[in-house]
Amino acid sequence: MSRATTIVQIVRDAYRAEGFLPLHAPVFQGNESAYVQATIESTFVSSVGAYVDQFEAMLREITGASHVIATTNGTTALHMSLLLAGVGRDDLVITQSLSFVATANSIAHAGATPAFVDVDADSYGLSHTALKAFLESECVLTNAGCIHRATGRRVAACVPMHSFGLPARIEEIVEIATAWRISVIEDAAEALGSKIGSRHCGTFGKLGTLSFNGNKIVTTGGGGAIMTNDPELGKRAKHLTTTAKVPHRWRFEHDAIGFNFRLPNLNAALGCAQLEQLDAFIAYKRDLAQRYSEAFAKADIPFVTERPGTTSNYWLCAILLKDLAERDECLEITNEAGVMTRPIWEPLHTLPMFSSAPRGPLEVTQEIASRLINIPSGVLRQPA
Ligand SMILES: *Cc1c(COP(=O)(O)O)cnc(C)c1O
Repeated sequence: MSRATTIVQIVRDAYRAEGFLPLHAPVFQGNESAYVQATIESTFVSSVGAYVDQFEAMLREITGASHVIATTNGTTALHMSLLLAGVGRDDLVITQSLSFVATANSIAHAGATPAFVDVDADSYGLSHTALKAFLESECVLTNAGCIHRATGRRVAACVPMHSFGLPARIEEIVEIATAWRISVIEDAAEALGSKIGSRHCGTFGKLGTLSFNGNKIVTTGGGGAIMTNDPELGKRAKHLTTTAKVPHRWRFEHDAIGFNFRLPNLNAALGCAQLEQLDAFIAYKRDLAQRYSEAFAKADIPFVTERPGTTSNYWLCAILLKDLAERDECLEITNEAGVMTRPIWEPLHTLPMFSSAPRGPLEVTQEIASRLINIPSGVLRQPA
């Protein structure tokens, strides 16, 4: 039996299901219809309403972040967080090339340029040793902050990403960044429910962000959130994402160039119903990951697992194949067999708009990008 056929068999056995298996489809089997219907009846479908407040309160409870601001999507949450951290025109922001394009796009939206650093071979998140090596060999700490010598640009922030829900080595990253006077913004778009020890991903840096796009662990249709433990940043985030309007019963007065980044109440209603099921979704996905882990070990195919001391939400499960040729063969055969698989994102430094961005060595990124595929990971909808 070819390894591709083995993969198809393992996925089908783990799900105990025939028929097409999607990578990750949303499941609406809780109070979604009821809450959305109630929102329509209330007429509060837009940027004000009780569900937005409730959604933020639920997220504070789940993540432990003292301030949560719901936004239109994960990209705008990142964009706003970068601005709040003081990132401006012509700055550099260190991030990983192994990420979804939104991570680097948001840096460009803030007027800055990404600088790419390698990831860990086990966490798939930004490598703290590669970060340290990049800073020591390419940068210098001055009165104006951390300066990238070759370009003369200020390194204003660092954006590690918790890949597929696997927690990055965020404590080590924060320690190094702090010594270099660089703000850390965690892209925790994929990591709702993921923890290091008992502390939630996205709450270690100055700010952290979440996404509730349709493919994420819970969805609001489209949506995102900013997390912070800094009350001033929290207040500022709320103000700037809601057009920077000065509170008044009828006057339209604004005291800054604000953004229309507020999550609509209609989307938050869907989100509240989804969050009620988060624990059940995570339990299902961690069970699935356990079955995958055992079966792939027997087949001698590396299955990507959480590091000791961390808890992954197993948003997207992943395996590593021998090389690019085997990867492409497996993608072909599994998708043909109705088991949806996908390669990881093309590394961001290879995309035309980021091809001239500064970078350190990216060997681990290249290696993972040529060998990794994501396999079906979502909760399977129960027959009605
Ligand atoms: C999903 C995602 C985002 C943001 O996504 P939106 O679609 O804008 O909500 C950002 N970064 C990563 C790594 C993601 O996976």
